[in-house]
Amino acid sequence: MRHLKILLIMFAVVFAMAPEMKLRRVQKDIYMVRGVDALPSLENRGFMSNAFAVLTTEGWVVVDALSTPELSKEFVDNLMRVKKAPIKYAIMTHYHPDHWYGAKTYKELGAKIVAHKKLLEFYNSGDAQMALQASKQRFGELFKSVVLVPPDVVVEEKLSLQVGGKRFEITALSPAHTDNDLLIYMPKEKVLFVGDLVMQNRIPFMGDRGASSKGLLENLRKIKQMDAKILLGGHNEPMGMSAVDFTVGYVQFLRDNIKRLKTQGKSIDEIREALKNNPYTKYVMYDAFHNTNVFRVDSELDMEE
Ligand SMILES: [Zn+2]
Repeated sequence: MRHLKILLIMFAVVFAMAPEMKLRRVQKDIYMVRGVDALPSLENRGFMSNAFAVLTTEGWVVVDALSTPELSKEFVDNLMRVKKAPIKYAIMTHYHPDHWYGAKTYKELGAKIVAHKKLLEFYNSGDAQMALQASKQRFGELFKSVVLVPPDVVVEEKLSLQVGGKRFEITALSPAHTDNDLLIYMPKEKVLFVGDLVMQNRIPFMGDRGASSKGLLENLRKIKQMDAKILLGGHNEPMGMSAVDFTVGYVQFLRDNIKRLKTQGKSIDEIREALKNNPYTKYVMYDAFHNTNVFRVDSELDMEE
């Protein structure tokens, strides 16, 4: 009896740790699943990012692929319960594992994969395979069934897709969160998919080798000027334009302060120490990303001089 009790508790713990995927309706014809706020792990199955789907009269258009084919399969199963229809397009906001690694499921279902031209370059360079092998080593079983999928449709600058009565205006950005970020705008609905460019009360990750804090600020200012009433990001709840102010605030805070401390001749360690107490310590992912961001902005400022 006692053993049974312990066993039941153990099951409860395991299930509590693995986040459940629940499809939510954002508004008419737009759906999402919301990943947890954490780094990828076996416990969370890599379900730590969002994915979106738009229902058109021709079928589904999905945005982002989650971290694994298993997760994207579960996402698609959810969509098919809403409406059994083909997946026409799958748009990747950028190449990070939690947005791209699940793309195999969409490809197998006949979707056209859409991505920034730099994502295709990354795929062709062989670096993408090396990054995947490194992820497989680091996270063990988590990425075991990931197969890299190149885009069928490449966005050079701008691309407008008209699918089953809905319009998607896609823009390929200059380096910002990565060097291959896409913005996807639905003009009639005034919905903007922002990938990992905009965060609300969460520290953005600026440590990618292709990232540019300067470019991120420029692109965030452009986003602020857009006529969007809802921003759908790779990690938050649906956001409003105030989220752009939060993200701009953090990036500007880093750039201004690191620049100031550098002109005083401070080393990277001294800069880290000087910025230890700051207004952002309480926000989600601070411990995971902040130090990397300081390091990255510091070396970026060296290049700008
Ligand atoms: Zn990302």
